[in-house]
Order: sequence, then C-alpha cells, then structure tokens
Amino acid sequence: MDDYSDWKMATLAVRAGHHRTAEGEHSPPIFTTSSYVYKSAAQAAARFSGDEAGNIYSRFTNPTVRNFEERLAVMEGGEVCVATATGMAAIMTTCVGLLEQGDHLLSSRSIFGSTVILFNKYLGRFGIETSYVPLTDIDAWRAAIRPNTRMLFVETPSNPLGELGDIQALADLAHEHDCLLVVDNCFCTPVLQRPLDFGADIVIHSATKYLDGQGRCMGGAVVGDRNKVGEDVYGVLRTTGPSMSPFNAWVFLNGLETLDLRMKAHSANAAELAGWLQEQPGVIHVHYPGLESHPQKALANKQMKLPGGVLSFEVEGGQAAAWKVIDATRLLSITANLGDTKSTVTHPASTTHGRVAPEERAESGISDGLIRISVGLEDIADIKADLARGLGSL
Ligand SMILES: *Cc1c(COP(=O)(O)O)cnc(C)c1O
Repeated sequence: MDDYSDWKMATLAVRAGHHRTAEGEHSPPIFTTSSYVYKSAAQAAARFSGDEAGNIYSRFTNPTVRNFEERLAVMEGGEVCVATATGMAAIMTTCVGLLEQGDHLLSSRSIFGSTVILFNKYLGRFGIETSYVPLTDIDAWRAAIRPNTRMLFVETPSNPLGELGDIQALADLAHEHDCLLVVDNCFCTPVLQRPLDFGADIVIHSATKYLDGQGRCMGGAVVGDRNKVGEDVYGVLRTTGPSMSPFNAWVFLNGLETLDLRMKAHSANAAELAGWLQEQPGVIHVHYPGLESHPQKALANKQMKLPGGVLSFEVEGGQAAAWKVIDATRLLSITANLGDTKSTVTHPASTTHGRVAPEERAESGISDGLIRISVGLEDIADIKADLARGLGSL
C-alpha cells in the first residue's frame, strides 16, 4: 500500500487506491476477469505456493476490488480491508475468522436485525453463545464479560434511537479481558467516525448504505490489522467465497469519491430537520445525536465529527398517527433502506423491529409512534413540507 499519511480525508476519498495501469487511464477501470495468466509454469507454481505475490483467482483478489479495499482501509486508518459481497457477509466472515466453538460474544442490544439472527441462530449452532447488553451502560458490559468472552460487538449510533456507545471505554474494557472490539460503522462512515482511532480493533461496513450512497449495489467490508483481518478474516473469505464483485467494487470506489461531501450534506440536512421537528406540535421527542438535548452530546462531540443523516421522532397517537404521517408523504420513499441520496421513511415498530416482542420493544424505547428518517440530499425545504402535510393532519 502507498504512503498516504500526509493526505486528508477528502483527498483520500478521491485519490487513494487507484494504481494506474500502462494505459494511463484517469478513472479506475473494472477488471471483469475470474482468473489470471502466468508467464510460465514456474511462475504459476510460485503464485500458488505464495512465494510470489499476485493475482490467482478473483475469489481471492481482483484489481478493482483491491482499489476499493485500499481506499477504504486508509480512510478508516486501518492496515488492511477485506471487501465482501454484503454487510452481513462482512460480519459473518469476521465471526467465523476470529471466534471458535466455546467462545462467548457480547453485543449491544440494539443492532441490525439480521445480525441478531446470525449471532443467535447460526453462530449458536456452532457453539458460540451471544448475550446482549444496553449500548450506553458500560457497567452492564463489564458485568456481562465471562472468562470465555472473546469479542465485543457494537453499533453506534444505534438504530433507530441514535444512542451512542463509548468506543474508547469499550475498547479499554475489551483489551483488559483479552477481547476484540468490533464496531459496525455503517451509520457514520470514516468521514464522521473512525473507531480505530479510539482503540477499536475491527471496523465493519455495509457498503450498501452510505459508501454506495445511491442505493444501487450490495457490498460490505472489514477493516483492521494485517493479522486478524489480513490473515484470519481474509482466509475465510477466500475459502468460503462471499467476495465482492468487481462491478460493485467499481460503483463503491466512485461512491467513495463523493463520500466526504455527501456525509456533510446528509448531516446538515438532518440537523436542520431535527431542530424543526422539535418545534412541531404533535411531536413528543426527537432522537438525534446532534441535538443539544441528546443525553450523550459530549460523547457525540468526542467521537463523531458530525451527527450523521439518520434521525427518529415520536408522534402523539401511536401507530395510527405514525402511519398517517408516513402515508401523507409524497417525496419521501417508504422503505427501510438508508444512506441514499433519496430521503427514506420507516415505521420501525411494524417493519425493522416488527419481529421483536412488544414488551422488549417498549423496553428499548421503540414506541408505536416512532418514525425513522434517513435524511437524503433533496432540498431541506421540500423535506420539511412533505412531513408538515402529515403532521398537520394529526
Ligand atoms: C444494512 C446493515 C447491515 C447489513 O448490510 P447488508 O449490506 O444489508 O448485508 C449491517 N449493519 C447495519 C448497521 C446495517 O444498516
């Protein structure tokens, strides 16, 4: 990897990782090839034995995928990135690569739904047990650590309530107990939060969200050091095969070029919308790490450069009122996806969190009147007007 130490984030996002070929192309090309050709039988043997570095097969390495990996690795401040077919594949390869039968995994409670199913149903089947603690309660994390705990897993800010986990405190706790701290950084991207700077060992991404930024391709990534990610996680990927396609890598590579700009614009729109929502009649509470009223504002200032593009708010009148607001929108897309240029609106209690037991949902603060918005890049006046129509009818 080149030395990029004197470049700032926006420059890395545009420039890092592309090694021009002999054609002198300005924009990174797509290498759609499954295999590679050698000059001689001896060279083929050297590649396969590992004596000579280089491409063998695109399940292992591909130049376009490597461009994306190198760019994201330096943006996160990691040594190595392994790109995967989806965000879930990134979490799966990380767990398979770094945990073994009899290990215990400790996770924050409010994490992506499929991650919970992966941990409980599938890792559980292979003798890896997972338990869950409230994201914000560091004493609960400490109390839940067992002698066989090997990994702490956290998503911060949480979805949909925007609660924060203290990355530095969790990293210290993990390292006191010979555990790794894994942070799913999907909501922030390295532009807003770099978990490795605060001591985390591994960063996970769903590239499907902000890295793409326009809702086109599925992808994921694992960032960390040469041994754990470069050897252990990569070893699972090259053998089991949830590799990123070169076409998707090319889309993400171009997505990264505008990431710095986009994340700032998403944050600015979300901050304005959060402030406006707070003043609307019928809105009981707004959850957004950028608000002065956020209970962890100091932590947000410490570990996040900006508060991000996702917020949620609770309306008076429960599910009926929330659905009324959602159904009155004409601009916002009713979909559970996020991190798109297009604003999206979701009713968590009946969609993303619909399979969670009602008591558990209430306990974790996901009320029937809660609405989540992934604030896009449309003009903020149009987004407000779209929500005002529904809120005015309550
Ligand atoms: C979407 C998402 C994932 C899973 O990513 P896929 O690309 O859908 O597999 C994991 N974590 C978070 C926080 C997500 O939002």
